[in-house]
Amino acid sequence: MIPLNPQLLNQLKSIVGDGQVLTAREDLIPYAFDGTAALSQMPAVVVFALTTAQLRDILKLGNEAGVPIVTRGSGTGLSGGSLPSPGCIVLCTVKMDRILEVDRANLTMLVEPGVTTLQVADAATGVGLFYPPDPGSMKISTIGGNVAENSGGLRGLKYGVTRNYVMGLEVVLPDGEILWTGNKCVKDVAGYSLRDLFIGSEGTLGIISKVLLKLIPKPAAKKTLVATFAAMDAAAQCVSDIIAAQIIPCTLEFLDRTTIHCVEDYAKVGLPLDCEALLLMESDGHPAAVADEAAQMEAIARTNGALEVRVAKDDAEAARLATARRSAFSALARVAPTTILEDATVPRSELARMIRFVEAVARKHRLRIGTFGHMGDGNLHPTFLTDERNHEEMHRVHEAFKEIFDEAIRLGGTITGEHGIGLAKKDFLPKFAGDASMRVMRELRRALDPRGILNPGKMFE
Ligand SMILES: Cc1cc2nc3c(=O)[nH]c(=O)nc-3n(C[C@H](O)[C@H](O)[C@H](O)COP(=O)(O)OP(=O)(O)OC[C@H]3O[C@@H](n4cnc5c(N)ncnc54)[C@H](O)[C@@H]3O)c2cc1C
Repeated sequence: MIPLNPQLLNQLKSIVGDGQVLTAREDLIPYAFDGTAALSQMPAVVVFALTTAQLRDILKLGNEAGVPIVTRGSGTGLSGGSLPSPGCIVLCTVKMDRILEVDRANLTMLVEPGVTTLQVADAATGVGLFYPPDPGSMKISTIGGNVAENSGGLRGLKYGVTRNYVMGLEVVLPDGEILWTGNKCVKDVAGYSLRDLFIGSEGTLGIISKVLLKLIPKPAAKKTLVATFAAMDAAAQCVSDIIAAQIIPCTLEFLDRTTIHCVEDYAKVGLPLDCEALLLMESDGHPAAVADEAAQMEAIARTNGALEVRVAKDDAEAARLATARRSAFSALARVAPTTILEDATVPRSELARMIRFVEAVARKHRLRIGTFGHMGDGNLHPTFLTDERNHEEMHRVHEAFKEIFDEAIRLGGTITGEHGIGLAKKDFLPKFAGDASMRVMRELRRALDPRGILNPGKMFE
C-alpha cells in the first residue's frame, strides 16, 4: 500500500469533510477488490463525494498532483474496473444517491450516480412506468456503474442494455470541467454523440455525476415458462430456433446441470433437478401476444426434445424463478474458493457450437465448470470453479479462457458481452478490436485525460 502525501490528504478532507475519508487499513480492505476473482490492490485512500462540485474539486486536485483516481460505485464489477491502481484515490459515488426528478410527461428520470438499479426500477414502477435493464446485481449495483459498464440484464434480449435508456449525462472531466450531454428530446443529432462515448467508458474518460434515464410504459401482461432438456446443446438449439422463428421474448436465460444444482441448494425454489439444462423463458406485452408467444416457445421447446415445460402459475412463482436465475453466480461461488466467471458472447446462430466448445475445453483442461447466462443474447457465463492458491490449476483456467475467447472471436462473437474489459480482459482487447480501433480509443483517451489520471492501467494501457 502506497501512502498518500499528507498535504493532499488534508486537501481531500477540506473538500469532503473528515468523515468522508477513509485511511485506516481495516477500512480500506473492502475497497481493495471488486466482484472479480483473484484480483486485489490496496488503495491509498477512499473518499466519498456527496456533490458534483466535490467531484470537480477532487479531480482538479488529482490532476494537478498527478495522482490516479479510480471511481467506484458498489464494486460489483466483474472485470476489475474499480480495482484500485497503486497509490490511487478511490473516489466512491455511492453516497450521491438521490432521485432528482421523475418526469411523467416526458417519461424520464434524473438520478445521481449512486442510486441503485433496483431503486430506479422501483421508482419507475411507483409511477406506473418501467425501467427494463436488470443486471443480476441490480439490488446493489449503482446506475453510475451500470452506465460506465453499459450493463445488460435478464431482459436485454427484448429491451436492450443500459445504453438504450440513457438520454443524458452530466460528466466531470479529468481536469474538473463539467460537461452535460443529451436532453429530454427523443431526437437530437447536434454534434457527435458524446453521451455514447461515456457509456461503457469504464471510468477512464470522466466521472458520471448525473444520469437522465428513459422510462417506458409497463407491459400489461407477462408469462414465465421453464423448460428442461437432457442435453445442453438441445437447449442451445431451442434458443437459436426461437430467434430464427422471429420470436423475441423478454427473457431467454439458461442454467446448466451444475448451476441448477447449486442454485437449488442455495435458493430452494423447487427447480427440476433431473436434467442437463434449464431454460427460463419470459414473454411480456399485450395479453393476447403474450399467450401466442408463450405457446410458440413451448412448441419449439417440445420440438427440441424438452423433458418438461412448466408455466409459472402466478407472479410470485415467476418472481421466485427470476430470483433463482439472478442468484446463479452467488450459488456457484459457495462451492469453490475461487469462481472465475466470463462472458464470451456469440451470434445466436452459433450458440450450440459454442456450448459444445466450452464443455470440450473444460474436459480437456480437467476443470470444473458451471455455465449459465443470457442465452437469448448469445451471452454465456462459463464459470470455472477453482482455487486461486492452486497455481497449476489457475494456469489451466487461463489457458481454457484463452481458447474460449479465441473461439468466440472465430465464430463472429466478442470477448465480453456486458462485463467490460477493465483489467481482466485487457490482454485480449487488441486482438479483438484491431489496430485502427485501438489507436482511435487511445487517442480519445489522451484527448480527454492527457495526464492519464482516471483508472490508469485499465482497458488498454
Ligand atoms: C452477482 C452479480 C451479478 C451480475 N450480473 C450482471 C448482469 O446480469 N449484467 C451485467 O452487465 N453485469 C452484471 N454484473 C456486473 C456488475 O454488477 C455491473 O458491471 C455493474 O454495472 C457494476 O456496478 P457497480 O456500481 O458495482 O460499479 P463498480 O463495480 O464499482 O464499477 C464498475 C466500473 O464503473 C466505473 N464507475 C463506477 N461508477 C462510476 C461513475 N459514477 N462514473 C464513472 N465511472 C464509474 C468504475 O471505475 C469501474 O470501471 C454482476 C455482478 C455480480 C457480482
